[in-house]
Amino acid sequence: MGKDAQPYVYIRDEEHAWVPARQLSNDGKKATVAVQKYKSEDEMMANASSTSGTKVEQKTIDLKTYPGGNLPMQNVDDGGKLGNHEDMVNLPYLHEAAILYNIKIRHNKALPYTRTGDLVVAVNPYQWIESLYTMEKRKLYAKKLVWENSETDPREHLAPHVYETSALCYKGMAFDGINQSILVSGESGAGKTETVKICMNHIASVQEGPSSAMAEMSPVVKRILDSNPLLEAFGNAKTRRNDNSSRFGKYLQLQFDGAGGVGRSVANLAGSKAEVFLLEKNRVCKHDDWERTYHIFYQLVAAPDSDKAGIWDSLKGTNNDSFKYVGKCEPMKFDGMTDAEHYLNTTKVLKFVGLSDSDVKKFYNAICVVLQLGNVTFGAAGGDADKSAVTSAGELSKLASLMGLAEPEITLALTERTMKTRDECYKVPLGPAVAKDSADALAKEVYGKIFLWVVKAINVRTSAEANYPGDAPGKKYGIIGLLDIFGFESFGVNRFEQLCINYANEKLQQKFTEDIFKAVMDEYKYEGIPLQDIKFDDNTDVLDLVESRTGLCALLNEECVRPKGSGEGFVNKVLAAHKKSPCLVPHKTDRLSFGVVHYAGLVYYEASGFVESNKDTLPTDLEDAATKCSNSIIADAFTFEKYAAAAGGTKGKPKRQKSNLMAPTVWTKYKTQLSSLMTSLYATQSKYIRCIKPNTVKKPLIMEHKTSVEQLRYAGIVAGVTISRSAFPNRLANSVVFSRYNSMWDKDKYPSKKSGGMSMPELVKADCEAVMECALKEKETKNKDGKMIKAFVCGKT
Ligand code: ATP
Ligand code: MG
Repeated sequence: MGKDAQPYVYIRDEEHAWVPARQLSNDGKKATVAVQKYKSEDEMMANASSTSGTKVEQKTIDLKTYPGGNLPMQNVDDGGKLGNHEDMVNLPYLHEAAILYNIKIRHNKALPYTRTGDLVVAVNPYQWIESLYTMEKRKLYAKKLVWENSETDPREHLAPHVYETSALCYKGMAFDGINQSILVSGESGAGKTETVKICMNHIASVQEGPSSAMAEMSPVVKRILDSNPLLEAFGNAKTRRNDNSSRFGKYLQLQFDGAGGVGRSVANLAGSKAEVFLLEKNRVCKHDDWERTYHIFYQLVAAPDSDKAGIWDSLKGTNNDSFKYVGKCEPMKFDGMTDAEHYLNTTKVLKFVGLSDSDVKKFYNAICVVLQLGNVTFGAAGGDADKSAVTSAGELSKLASLMGLAEPEITLALTERTMKTRDECYKVPLGPAVAKDSADALAKEVYGKIFLWVVKAINVRTSAEANYPGDAPGKKYGIIGLLDIFGFESFGVNRFEQLCINYANEKLQQKFTEDIFKAVMDEYKYEGIPLQDIKFDDNTDVLDLVESRTGLCALLNEECVRPKGSGEGFVNKVLAAHKKSPCLVPHKTDRLSFGVVHYAGLVYYEASGFVESNKDTLPTDLEDAATKCSNSIIADAFTFEKYAAAAGGTKGKPKRQKSNLMAPTVWTKYKTQLSSLMTSLYATQSKYIRCIKPNTVKKPLIMEHKTSVEQLRYAGIVAGVTISRSAFPNRLANSVVFSRYNSMWDKDKYPSKKSGGMSMPELVKADCEAVMECALKEKETKNKDGKMIKAFVCGKT
């Protein structure tokens, strides 16, 4: 039987997402298919179209459950073999299964990158493929995409690569004078941070110019590249999903001098500025077995004793077991280095970015305060469970001397709380568990501030303003922004942090949608070109639910100022206010839970800790203790915060008492930060890289179907491919079309549409229209795939 009689299709599968099959019959409502019993998902790909030999099962499929009432077709050649395409826009059959198998075939051939129009899908290869990143490769992409002029899409003869994203961004910024951004997204372990590094290194080498040997790196560029591992030491940790997981979001702006220069001038990398988001502070005090806290703690503990003595006397002779926050853990290497080797590198880089020896020591000393806070233990005082006393005198004494505070002072700050009413001020004792929480809260806050201090210190020393102090104040630099931010998350239990992360992803998805979908639609409308109806998910409803004046943010903040505000109170308010929202789903049984229909699917959130997580304020007793700390990094950071809060955040206004005023909540700060990020991004031309984590075992050449398909959906890749394909993927300027096709122009039959008073571009366009009319009607002009050249449309260009 011929292949058309038994089409090669995919069917849905609970375990493997999509399984290849042969369709034996189809009556429009039901289809019968033959499916092999595959031993593995790899076998499915290798034998996608085979139904002979091994055991074959017949299944009846209800076609109602498939889009358009048809089973999705496989992209097989005449011999029934599955092929793959570098640009998924060219897939003959385009759907989720086809995309999955396309990237899977490529992944198995060590081809991690696949193009989808302008978007690059990057599958984590979990092996360093040297040949992809050679100097020759870097130069090739720079030469073809930046330095050479091309009438056609210059990517035509280049394999898909993230170097095309970096090169095109450089070109847009340097020659067109348009600020650019690369938005890299994906779940934990998908390869975002690595991808950003790959792009950054490429941009640094592209800017060396077309003829450069790219051997000598300028000190400015080196400093920028070197500052990267520094952020990783303080913001990355080993998790189950990734040995070097970034526990914060990062937007790095590369600043260029001479952007938008006339002709082929070179824009030089002049500096960089990093902005960070939502550091996971809880990890300072607690981490699961098999995970670790931040790398820097292990590095510091692994430092040579001679260094330790200069940082803090009591640090000498310690190991991981000496500190409760660090705890037992297997020694591990990442980036091929031990913690001790990383310590040496971190120290070197701290100095390289410009910190003095004494600053470096002070800075490590501040980290010791965090470590030591975790060692102080508490028990019931005098048998009263509502009062506490420190039960580790030796540890307390070390902490007190480290912070330069008297022991009773730090004890009181940890074991009692000052309460203020309008008329009086009194102390309330804290039970041992609450006292321990206080110590943890202080440690988290100190670490959060140290982290911001590092970011600031790096910025102060790597920014263009610092590198070129002679530049005019306020000088505008060309920008390429690199965003490395947590992807959409949906776990068994989703908390406040997941809502924050998913909110950011909704904002980014909105931009993605606007960029890809709306821009194409608008352009086609403008050009008068019919575009088949494209369905895409507009996520304004869900964004309204989160950020409108009565949205989740506002209601949570309201609940946080209510004296007995609670998670349940918040959920009730949300359900009452948004009864009609299509994006809010009440939980059937759990009153502390609510569901949000995100662009990537329904997520239930557990609101029990929402109020506490959102408040995240440090009691004044602890704040006061921190302001008196002898370590000036800590003292200065807390003093500044105290004054800023007391001033109500508004310059020049009378100071207000903090007790009567709610300090900005986590939501409020995050929302403000996110909206400023979005403003920065909207001022750039964005390019997208979607990273995919192919398997959970972190091994090369394996692609698990189910989790990969989920990521394809979260990343909006299926929808993205559809739009890019519906749109015309290639555009040519009228002048190019004219010079290329005017030889086939029968002027008598198709006279020019020129008329008096037309401008030069209008004249070219008028000629072009006649040429194309002639080409389309008279000559059977075909493109390289044998299709009619309908892609040539006379437009505004
Ligand atoms: P997280 O959100 O947890 O920070 P991530 O998306 O930033 O995760 P990375 O840290 O970039 O993930 O990548 C995880 C690991 O995958 C890397 O440590 C590296 O081992 C491997 N990896 C990622 N990209 C590549 C690549 N292009 N080539 C080789 N290995 C890679
Ligand atoms: Mg990362």
